[in-house]
Amino acid sequence: METYDALVIGSGHNGLAAAALLSDAGLRVAILERSDRIGGATVSERDRWPGYTISAASYVCSLLDPWLIERLDLRAHGYDAYRKDPASFTPLLDGRSLLLGADEGKNAEEIARFDPADIAGFAAFDREATALGSALFERFADMEPRFDRFDAQVRAALEGSVAALVERHVRTPVLQATLATDGLIGTYRGPFDAGTGYVLAHHYAGRAFGVQGAWGFVRGGMGAISQALLSAAQARGARAFTDANVTRFLLDGDRVVGAVTADGREFRAHAVLSNAHPVTTFRDLLGEEHLDDATKGALARWQSVGPALKLNLALGELPNFSARPGTTLQPHHRATIHVAPDLAFLQRAHDDARRTGESEEPMLECFMQTPTDPSLAPPGKHILSIFAQYFPADRPGGWDTARRDAAAAKIVAQLARYAPNIPNVIEARQLMVASDLEERFGLIGGHIFHGELLPGQIFERRFGVRSPIAGLYLCGSGTHPGGCVSGFPGRRAAQAVLADRVLA
Ligand SMILES: Cc1cc2nc3c(=O)[nH]c(=O)nc-3n(C[C@H](O)[C@H](O)[C@H](O)COP(=O)(O)OP(=O)(O)OC[C@H]3O[C@@H](n4cnc5c(N)ncnc54)[C@H](O)[C@@H]3O)c2cc1C
Repeated sequence: METYDALVIGSGHNGLAAAALLSDAGLRVAILERSDRIGGATVSERDRWPGYTISAASYVCSLLDPWLIERLDLRAHGYDAYRKDPASFTPLLDGRSLLLGADEGKNAEEIARFDPADIAGFAAFDREATALGSALFERFADMEPRFDRFDAQVRAALEGSVAALVERHVRTPVLQATLATDGLIGTYRGPFDAGTGYVLAHHYAGRAFGVQGAWGFVRGGMGAISQALLSAAQARGARAFTDANVTRFLLDGDRVVGAVTADGREFRAHAVLSNAHPVTTFRDLLGEEHLDDATKGALARWQSVGPALKLNLALGELPNFSARPGTTLQPHHRATIHVAPDLAFLQRAHDDARRTGESEEPMLECFMQTPTDPSLAPPGKHILSIFAQYFPADRPGGWDTARRDAAAAKIVAQLARYAPNIPNVIEARQLMVASDLEERFGLIGGHIFHGELLPGQIFERRFGVRSPIAGLYLCGSGTHPGGCVSGFPGRRAAQAVLADRVLA
């Protein structure tokens, strides 16, 4: 039996952030991680393909809390990120394409090729999206989050569809679709569905690069964030255990006082923080018999059917896009590459999945960090990281090997319509469908955010950092402000533990 002031169950970046902040306040902290590596969905894999470093799950960064970066001096622990520019590249089958980035003049030239009237509309969209993102960011650290603190206009935009948001400002189909994808990522909804406005704003909330809504890469891959947080926690005295699968909490009366691992080790602590998914925390580790009706109801209603598939490919050369030919490095290779020609395509991708279990033609969002961080692959080689929707967790009949292979083949074939060299230059592949995300990272239903980020599951409707059971706190993405690599759930949980300790 080991005794600590605080136990953190799970080493996702939020668990690590909580552990570092609690250690910083002088608490003796242990982190218990079920898998053999630290970081949860914020991880870099170095052992899969020789010479490659893969950001296996999350890939790009924006929402990481600037306060946390400073407070824990994460740069001194190896965190270094740089902005992605250009931001997006959307090729079309007719040979045209759209490249957008930080340069307003270049954006105007790109948009003018489709419709000069959309230059002003794009600027207006950007103003609205960044204003919404900024409004959210201001509330991300709230200890008592309340959606009704936003004024009616903001609430209407967040509760509405992402299609309504983009159609209000621009009319070029490929521009509409490119902008709408931020409202769909990780979410089992189509662009015309209510609530996707919130998902878009969430993706404009980040300030990690000092520019509202800008996204970028982390040098060394996303795992560098977890490693920096781990290092900051350990420097302050925290202990981390991998292969420590917690199977249940220890209870003393109606108080959680510790945790037991699968191999029988017992850890006791004054505060237990769970970084695991709320379903894991309450149903598996605590037991529903200890829950009040409100929490039972919230769990029963919790939407956590993930629609995402991740396909990482090692490529022998850069993709050669028919719309911007060439295999030597060009600006569009550094951007997020979208397969999203128009809003109807995106809605169809969603609707097909509801009807048949997967998209006929999926929405794709692809990233390559290797052009700007060659240390991640052997010389001349690249990693193409593909995030595809919709391949939902609840597919009738599940995801057997044949269906998984067929899904990967479908995605590669679809990309090949835009960049025909891709199938011939694939040297290795890593495929994760929803069930793999659940098995590997503990993401129930394969949901990348620990549950939908939609009205009904945001702000006060997400799970609280203080659970209804004394001694038990939640510090993962199931709490406000939810998923993405931000650290806010971990920060808020640590603050709750420290406040309660002072009061105790
Ligand atoms: C494929 C994919 C792509 C994504 N892309 C991006 C992106 O580009 N940018 C972005 O910002 N976000 C992205 N996200 C979302 C983001 O990665 C997650 O929202 C975030 O990493 C969740 O962090 P967390 O600390 O809350 O939980 P997690 O990272 O899920 O960590 C929870 C940890 O708890 C551990 N655990 C669970 N049960 C137990 C137990 N019983 N005992 C011990 N340990 C346990 C798990 O093993 C895991 O390590 C992506 C996610 C996925 C899956």
